[in-house]
Amino acid sequence: MLPFRLIYHDGYNLNIGDHVFPAVKYKLIRERLIADGFAVEEDFLQPEAASDADILLVHDPGYVTRLKTGTLSYAEVAKLEIPYSQKMVQAFWLAAGGTILAAERAMADGVGFNVGGGFHHAFAGHGEGFCAIHDVAVAVRSLQHRGLIRKALIVDCDVHHGNGTAAIFAGDESVLTISLHQFHNYPAQKPASSIDVHLADGVGDAEYLVKLREVLTRSIPMFQPDILFYVAGADPYFQDQLGGLSLTLTGLRERDRIVFREANELRIPVVVTLAGGYAVEVADTVTIQANTAKVALLRWLQPHLIGELVELRPLRVEDWEALYAVASDPLIWEQHPASDRYQEAVFREFFQGALDSGGAFVVLDRSSGATIGSTRYSGYQSGRNQIEIGWTFLARSYWGGRYNGEMKRLLLAHAFQFVEHVVFLVGSTNIRSQTALARIGAVQVGREEANLRGRLVEHFVYRISKS
Ligand SMILES: [Zn+2]
Repeated sequence: MLPFRLIYHDGYNLNIGDHVFPAVKYKLIRERLIADGFAVEEDFLQPEAASDADILLVHDPGYVTRLKTGTLSYAEVAKLEIPYSQKMVQAFWLAAGGTILAAERAMADGVGFNVGGGFHHAFAGHGEGFCAIHDVAVAVRSLQHRGLIRKALIVDCDVHHGNGTAAIFAGDESVLTISLHQFHNYPAQKPASSIDVHLADGVGDAEYLVKLREVLTRSIPMFQPDILFYVAGADPYFQDQLGGLSLTLTGLRERDRIVFREANELRIPVVVTLAGGYAVEVADTVTIQANTAKVALLRWLQPHLIGELVELRPLRVEDWEALYAVASDPLIWEQHPASDRYQEAVFREFFQGALDSGGAFVVLDRSSGATIGSTRYSGYQSGRNQIEIGWTFLARSYWGGRYNGEMKRLLLAHAFQFVEHVVFLVGSTNIRSQTALARIGAVQVGREEANLRGRLVEHFVYRISKS
């Protein structure tokens, strides 16, 4: 099972028929996560609808009554921009219940993921822009009301400004609201968030990611929230029908990583809600939002591990020079299937792959602080309850077993907090690594062809199980 829960209900479908808002996406995201082997049925929790008492912590009683009894005015329904139905109303109560449950799970597990919600255009007294009830605000108030949290941070990365969020929490020092959005887009009126980052039309990955990192590194340590709500809209995507920014799939995944990394630094629980996403191809919206769930695993895949001899921390772009200084020794790779990895161009591919994997570490000598190698978690599958440790190398002066042994012990102990089995793939000719694995109790359980830069190479599969 996953170390965190995915919150989902079939009733999330707003039942609005053929509409630019693809209400079917919730179901498709759930199916995609299962089809990819990332999640299994048991990883999903079904929420209850929020209670009216919780809804009323945010919304005006008159508006709530009109919404429930179907007595909204024509103008009120028009502003909502989705057809009115009892099923639609029920979907918003469920979404709010889902975000409350996700927030409770985040407090327990570190992450709670609502495969829904993020209705950031809803105000206390009216709904607009496909949003009737502000599920995130309801969850914040519900947790505060029960004394589970004091301060909440809302990071809104939907392409549209979080106007409802800004208005609901205006003047409230217990909630910091951040919105990064395209300035020349809906909503025309943008009530001030605590921090608004107005982006010009067409802004792409590089500028977006720099600005996001800058605002989070500044605000999270300063505000010290008890919980972070991430409104992870898929609509900054360059092929979005209602968005005018130019982020790529890779850029959006990096965006998710920045949010999780910054929160993980201070061990702040993260609640994810999905918000918008109107890609020309619904499958792209599904990919972007399923990726966010996969990135959430960073909290478990990239811990900071400290032993007596070595220290492991998440690999960063800035590690290139020090790591290549180690990897440029041809003798490290002599028995390795990728014996040309000491070459700069080849190692650059390896390094980029490590960064892209989201599970790579740089290994440091604790006594000197020197960079001595790298390793990775990869291939996590909830259903198989297993993860791989691999792509490991150490400078030759650290060979002999002690450093490698401690590094593997740290990685195994951490992995066994959320999986039952750890596997290692070793080239069939790599006798030195096979010996090292046997020494730490790994058992050969099979063989597999692994693709190394377009070449199929026979590998042995070793496994260690939690005893
Ligand atoms: Zn949006």
